[in-house]
Amino acid sequence: MSWVIAITNQKGGVGKTTTAVNLAAALQAFGRRVLLVDMDPQGNATVSAGYDKHSVERHVGQVLLEEIGVTEALLPTDPGGFDLLPATIDLAGAEFQLVTRIGRETKLRQALAPLVEDYDFVLIDCPPALNTLTINSLAAADDVLIPVQCEYFALEGLSALLDTIEQVRVALNPDLGIAGVLRTLYDARNRLAQDVSGQLRQHFGDRVFDALVPRNVRLAEAPSHGLPAMFYDKSSSGAEAHADVARELIKRARKRGKLGKPAALRQ
Ligand code: ADP
Ligand code: MG
Repeated sequence: MSWVIAITNQKGGVGKTTTAVNLAAALQAFGRRVLLVDMDPQGNATVSAGYDKHSVERHVGQVLLEEIGVTEALLPTDPGGFDLLPATIDLAGAEFQLVTRIGRETKLRQALAPLVEDYDFVLIDCPPALNTLTINSLAAADDVLIPVQCEYFALEGLSALLDTIEQVRVALNPDLGIAGVLRTLYDARNRLAQDVSGQLRQHFGDRVFDALVPRNVRLAEAPSHGLPAMFYDKSSSGAEAHADVARELIKRARKRGKLGKPAALRQ
């Protein structure tokens, strides 16, 4: 069983990439097999996982255009240990070329199909837009994980995202669900953050992760070293928060019957 999760929010800067990379590393450290798919032409997840996005030769854009097979583009990560399907700026051009292709919205789903069962978790880092790349991510996913920065316009943006999710359900992926809502860049002293957090609870109930990710400078520094935070400063509040989120996600996966034993305990 594999759980494909699109980490999505069309707002930029809410912590999608930070969540994707640090969850990938934490889940892998807990003995799960993880694939991280970078679907943002900015390639921030690719860089944060330790690669120079200017020298990556085979990437997800070519996979979507069916120029290469998905396994040709996979990269190992060190020390993260998870696999990476990298992105470069060429993904923007690939998106443009997709427009004229038949079945353009399900290219990622098609590409991932033969290999999802090799992983316990496939995490897709979405771009900050409701574009064809995001639609491909939502069409390929079992569920979405929505990082939310608890500030004034957060909820307004969420309703546009929920509309898109509903449209994808109707047209492409009827079972698409919400794996969780994650509060990011959280400042507990901020009254507004507490209010928005309360509203999220009201709307999404226990789909909101108990763990929240605080604002933590280590999370912002780690990408420039090409490292997930747990390999940059393991005891930082940011690294610990993502470990907590990973634990909750594993619990949710078990509840859904989506998870077996960790790799080390398999025969
Ligand atoms: P997105 O992928 O949604 O655009 P990012 O994960 O790239 O967002 O985060 C935006 C910026 O904020 C990045 O520079 C990142 O390093 C920083 N950042 C993200 N989460 C945190 C956090 N919890 N604490 C401090 N900085 C963060
Ligand atoms: Mg990003």
